[in-house]
Amino acid sequence: MTMTDVTSIVLDELAAVLSGAQIATGARAEGNRRDQSEGTLSGEPLAVVFPASTEEVAAVVTIAAAHRIPVVPQGARTGLAGGANAIDGAIVLSTTRLKKILAIDSANQTATVQAGVRTIALARAAEAVDLFYPPDPGSWRASTIGGNVATNAGGMLCVKYGVTGNFVRQLTVVLADGSIVHTGQRTIKGVAGYNLTALLVGSEGTLGVITEITVGLLPKPASPSGVSATFATTADALAAANAIVAGARRPSVLEFLDGACIAAINAFDPDSALPAGASALLLVQSDEIGRAHDDVEAYAEVLWAGGAGAVTIAHDPAALEQLMSARRLLHPAVQAVRGGALNEDVTVPRSQLSALLLGLAEIAMELGVPISTGGHIGDGNLHPVIGYDPAVPAEIDAAHAAFARVIALAISLDGSASGEHGIGVLKRAHLDDELGPVLRDLQRRVKAAFDPHSILNPGKKL
Ligand SMILES: Cc1cc2nc3c(=O)[nH]c(=O)nc-3n(C[C@H](O)[C@H](O)[C@H](O)COP(=O)(O)OP(=O)(O)OC[C@H]3O[C@@H](n4cnc5c(N)ncnc54)[C@H](O)[C@@H]3O)c2cc1C
Repeated sequence: MTMTDVTSIVLDELAAVLSGAQIATGARAEGNRRDQSEGTLSGEPLAVVFPASTEEVAAVVTIAAAHRIPVVPQGARTGLAGGANAIDGAIVLSTTRLKKILAIDSANQTATVQAGVRTIALARAAEAVDLFYPPDPGSWRASTIGGNVATNAGGMLCVKYGVTGNFVRQLTVVLADGSIVHTGQRTIKGVAGYNLTALLVGSEGTLGVITEITVGLLPKPASPSGVSATFATTADALAAANAIVAGARRPSVLEFLDGACIAAINAFDPDSALPAGASALLLVQSDEIGRAHDDVEAYAEVLWAGGAGAVTIAHDPAALEQLMSARRLLHPAVQAVRGGALNEDVTVPRSQLSALLLGLAEIAMELGVPISTGGHIGDGNLHPVIGYDPAVPAEIDAAHAAFARVIALAISLDGSASGEHGIGVLKRAHLDDELGPVLRDLQRRVKAAFDPHSILNPGKKL
């Protein structure tokens, strides 16, 4: 049988389980070929499908399994590691029609949603009943909960509340043979069997297609207050951040931008109005009920004592939102400076942040590449962004060389290549260095147990 025969058989079988509007091929599939990563390849899919229920997902995966065709699960394609990029001849399975909020259970403080629900929609639905879903990736207006679970996404509030995985209770998952399983418990506690829910969190579409998710929710916190502070050096900013972490008060946000990020954000969006000329900026927030103002005044004292140049308190929600919005522009703003940017996501133990920042400066100088660094300094997860001009091959090569050096640096500091964006295809080459051969082999055997014919997002993650 020729490839064309197989393609037409598979398309006929898909048409038997989905409507025409749920299947895109050729030019109509073009828009679903890749995520927002730079420096990653993507293939030409056989088709992009848009199932609207767990049963439809299972029907699609059953067809793929019968023909040993790869399946690439895809959420909103905001990923930064190429995890959702199409593979040649694959069925790309978009979850964008799985967008129902199925239940908000106030008594048990949980929400159950389909995987394609946007992060912001879940957060707003929880807020409407005075509950709170904290994980807040910068992409939350677009990203899906399924994508967040599959990458174990973080965000700015994770310094206080933890990452997506900390909130996941139960998953409905379509396995590689098309069968449907439910993992986890509705209860707060539960240790029956292995924790497959935790294994699926962060699995980047390689172990199963997640179709429904139950997350735990928290009581709604106070409306946050915040403070920003500028510093003459990144070392001063880091020392002040460390002083805040060491204190008894727990910030809900503790973010860092270096001078290059500040300049890029102001140039990208002049309304951001971050203090120009500073070498570093810290952004700190508290959302403690009855104490947020006091916390922020106390943080301001710590920042002054740490040698801050300008300290700006923002109790007013509009002023605070302006600061947060400016911070969220980190990636597009730095990318706009040279037209191309490789986004790092390295994470190190907090005690190694100083060595990481020094090492980044050394790499930038030695390779002659611009590295702008910002991110979640409170949990040791920074986003150095390596700029390059896509029209200059030497700059592209230097950027990729710097990318590898930054990952090697983080691993040498007991850190990781990725704190929250995932491995995808972008960082696979560095996984051996981080895991070592024995763990990598064990992980491959786990993958084989879930997906013996390697049809689920092959070539990603491991
Ligand atoms: C401007 C910007 C800011 C960002 N900020 C953050 C941030 O602060 N923190 C952070 O962690 N990330 C951040 N990201 C990265 C990205 O938004 C996250 O990785 C997000 O979780 C991806 O969600 P998505 O729905 O777009 O998934 P996609 O990009 O579509 O997919 C991501 C991965 O998950 C898999 N996948 C998706 N859905 C499913 C499913 N239902 N079942 C199984 N596998 C699935 C895909 O195969 C792929 O491997 C940012 C990205 C951008 C562009």
